[in-house]
Amino acid sequence: MANITVLDQNTINKIAAGEVIERPASVVKELLENAIDAQATAVTIEIKEGGTTLIRVTDNGCGIPKDQISLAFLRHATSKIKSVEDLFTVSSLGFRGEALASIAAVAQVELITKTGDSLTGFRYQIEGGAERGLEEVGAPDGTTFIARNLFYNTPARKKFLKRPVTEGAYVADLVEKIALSHPEISIRFIQNNQNKLYTSGNHNLRDLVYTVYGREVTANLLPIDVQAQDIKVSGFIGKPLIARGNRNYENYFINGRYIKSSIISKAIEEAYKPYMMQHKYPFTLLHFSIEPEFLDVNVHPTKMELRFRDGELMFKTVLNAVGEALSHRELIPLVSLEE
Ligand code: ADP
Ligand code: MG
Repeated sequence: MANITVLDQNTINKIAAGEVIERPASVVKELLENAIDAQATAVTIEIKEGGTTLIRVTDNGCGIPKDQISLAFLRHATSKIKSVEDLFTVSSLGFRGEALASIAAVAQVELITKTGDSLTGFRYQIEGGAERGLEEVGAPDGTTFIARNLFYNTPARKKFLKRPVTEGAYVADLVEKIALSHPEISIRFIQNNQNKLYTSGNHNLRDLVYTVYGREVTANLLPIDVQAQDIKVSGFIGKPLIARGNRNYENYFINGRYIKSSIISKAIEEAYKPYMMQHKYPFTLLHFSIEPEFLDVNVHPTKMELRFRDGELMFKTVLNAVGEALSHRELIPLVSLEE
C-alpha cells in the first residue's frame, strides 16, 4: 500500500462537489434555492447546451455585501445557521454552505452582486476553486450567478453527463418544480435564447398549474385545504381521469422545499387506489407547512429527502386529506368497472 497523505484542499473540494453537483440541474437547483433564500421576487434562469456550457441565474434578492463575497465561496460558509440546534428551526432552503464552493470547484464562475445599501455592484470571478479577482461594476440590486463549462476540470465526471437535450430537459423539469413550489415568485426560464417558461408570481396556484401543465389538467383539479394537528396541507389533486403512467405528476412541497418522500407518495397512491387503474399515478400539487422542529432536513446533501418526526401522522394526514377530496366527487371507481 502507498503512504497515507492528506488530500490538498483543491482535491477535497472537487471530490466533495460530486455530492452536491451531479449535473447542470443540480447547479440550477442550488442557485434557485439561494435566490429564494435571498427573498427574491423575480428570478431568471438561462441555460445553453443543456446547461453544460452556460448557466445564468439572476435574482432581485438581497445581494451579497462586498466583504462577504469571497467568504460565500468557502466550504461550510453560510449565513443561514450558526449551530447544530439551528437545524431544527431553520426555515431557509440552504444551510450547509456547500453549494457555491462546490460549483466553483468544478466550473468557471462569475458572480455579479449588489446589496441595496451599496452604491455600486461587484463582479467576482473564480475558476476551478482559484480566485480570479473582484472589481467594481454597475449592477442592479440582486445577484447574477454565471457558471460556465461545468466539469471542465473533471473530465471523468463530465463523461457521465447525458446529451445537452437530455440535461436541458432535467433543468426544465427542475425549474418547473421550483416555480410550482413558490407561487409568489416570478420565474422566467430561457433555453438556448428561447423563452420556455414564465410565471407571474401572482400567488395563484391554479394559474401556475395552467402555465406549467395546461388546460386539461387545470380543468380537472380538486382543491385541498386541511389542517390536521401540526400539519397544514393545501393545493390541488387531479381527478383520476388525468392520471399518468409515471410519478412525474406527483408534486409535493414541504415548507417551500421540493422533495421526494415515499411516505407521502404511498399515502397519495393509497387514497387513489379505489379510483385508479394499476400503474397509473395521479396529478398532485400539495403544499405542506409543518413546524421545522417536526422535520429533519439534514438527511442528504441535496436535501431532496427528509425525515418526519412522526411519519405515521404524516401518512394518515395525507391519506385522509386526499381521500376526503376524492370522496367529495361523484367518481365511478375504475377498478370495479374493470372487474
Ligand atoms: P447555503 O445556501 O447553504 O448557505 P451556499 O454555498 O449556497 O450555502 O451559499 C453561501 C452563502 O452565500 C449563503 O449563505 C448566502 O449568505 C450567500 N448567497 C448565495 N447566493 C446568494 C444570492 N443569490 N443572494 C444573496 N446571497 C447569496
Ligand atoms: Mg445554498
